[in-house]
Amino acid sequence: MSNRTLNLTDPLYDYVLAHSLREHPAQTALRDATRGHERATMQIAPEQGQFMAMLAKLTGARNTIEIGVFTGYSALSVALALPADGRILACDISDEYTRIGKPFWAQAGVADKIDLQLAPALATLDARLAAGEAGRYDFAFIDADKINYDGYYERCLRLVRPGGLIVIDNTLWSGRVAERADSDDTAALQALNLKLHHDERIDLSLLPLGDGLTLARRR
Ligand code: SAM
Ligand code: CA
Repeated sequence: MSNRTLNLTDPLYDYVLAHSLREHPAQTALRDATRGHERATMQIAPEQGQFMAMLAKLTGARNTIEIGVFTGYSALSVALALPADGRILACDISDEYTRIGKPFWAQAGVADKIDLQLAPALATLDARLAAGEAGRYDFAFIDADKINYDGYYERCLRLVRPGGLIVIDNTLWSGRVAERADSDDTAALQALNLKLHHDERIDLSLLPLGDGLTLARRR
């Protein structure tokens, strides 16, 4: 028995998937369609998508934000967990990436729930704040350019309601956050992790799931 997070060997990872993964056929098909893409490793892991769907249900999420869509697996996972009137404000700058996912959103019957905004996410979020949408959202997922993570976090903290959840991806950055910063991205993640640790505006958990997943619940 161990009270420390286990090292995930390949057989143990296969066991986790074999004994818990529940995908909609459109999710499996979207992963298949992304597998050969040169940036395929940007896609979240399927067990992470399932965990985020669980979080969305636990928080009773209806209005949500996603920053960083790529081919749409995380958006699809959350959309499937939302009620019929649930929505995702989905932010990305790439038509090339996001168009790959759209047929799978349609296949799953959730295309109407995903409001894709192709623009720099900071501008999209600022426009929503200017439109008076502070406190209107229940859940946010941050997974775009790391250099802007702090800006996304600060905006999401205003856009989600008290009790709302902000989920931040890649906060362990393949382990590089524990080493001397080797890039602006690493430094940005280190600075954000440091800030969140003592941020009194949130409840905090940093999970070693996927590439590191931080949960920040607005107080
Ligand atoms: N969550 C996605 C998934 O599950 O497949 C992966 C997202 S991928 C790691 C990051 C995405 O952020 C890319 O699709 C990229 O086009 C987008 N991105 C990069 N800079 C951005 C910006 N300034 N505003 C909005 N999106 C941006
Ligand atoms: Ca990511």
